[in-house]
Amino acid sequence: MQVTEFLDSLNSTGTLSYIGETTLGTPIPMLSKGKGEMGKVLLIGAVHAREYITAPLLLSLMKEYDGEYPVDCIPMLNIDGVTLVTEGLNGIPLTMRNRISLLRVNDGSTDFSLWKANIRAVDLNVNCDADWGQGKGNLTRPAPSGYIGPCPFSELESYAVKRLLDNNSYALVVCYHSKGEEVYYGYGGNHKYKKQAKAVADRLGYALKRTPHSTGGIKDYFTLTTNRLGLTIEVGSDNLSHPIGLEHLDELKEKHKGIINFFTEIAKELWTEYGL
Ligand SMILES: [Zn+2]
Repeated sequence: MQVTEFLDSLNSTGTLSYIGETTLGTPIPMLSKGKGEMGKVLLIGAVHAREYITAPLLLSLMKEYDGEYPVDCIPMLNIDGVTLVTEGLNGIPLTMRNRISLLRVNDGSTDFSLWKANIRAVDLNVNCDADWGQGKGNLTRPAPSGYIGPCPFSELESYAVKRLLDNNSYALVVCYHSKGEEVYYGYGGNHKYKKQAKAVADRLGYALKRTPHSTGGIKDYFTLTTNRLGLTIEVGSDNLSHPIGLEHLDELKEKHKGIINFFTEIAKELWTEYGL
């Protein structure tokens, strides 16, 4: 997948805006459809670099969405990381020094296909301010995955999401990852809205799970700060290997067909439950 081509293709779907910039200065696009604020849904894809198949998946789901309820979608949050995974070191403008440090973090290998972090080797899904650094597998030094960063929201990409979440009143936030065919919900001891989370899992034929050892994720931050429903959806069979090839995109599209309309139905129901 050519990242610049993908980003260029976005302006034909819904309203295009930008939530901030990546570390390397690329504006992070957001697509919006529908009207108003009631029961607004936020979708985020490609938080982890090697899980980039979620970006074209979300774009195609946004294209088919024809409902009137409001939906915002950031198809590719970790643009720099996806570029590293798909095009390697030559795909990105880096100084020799930065190249050497990235190679060092990657154990000397020029194969970055399993990289999850952003270009600063910070894992965006453990960098948020939700019991930051307390999660299982958290690392305190730069790594292809699991590094929490120097402080919560140290990264431009995660900070852009924080600003968006803090300035909007989303009813439902759904982060797309791969793989395992699972839907994760809740945070810490809070497992409210299980009924709605289960409905999403059942609709997709995925297993519903809790995340007892997860901290610092986008879903974690949203759930902790708003007490609303945040979901992490892991697409693709566990039998596939990372990164999931684009030859599997059609089957994922088929599986997730109509899911945004379904999310907006759930969000409407939640809006009432939240007492808004
Ligand atoms: Zn992931």
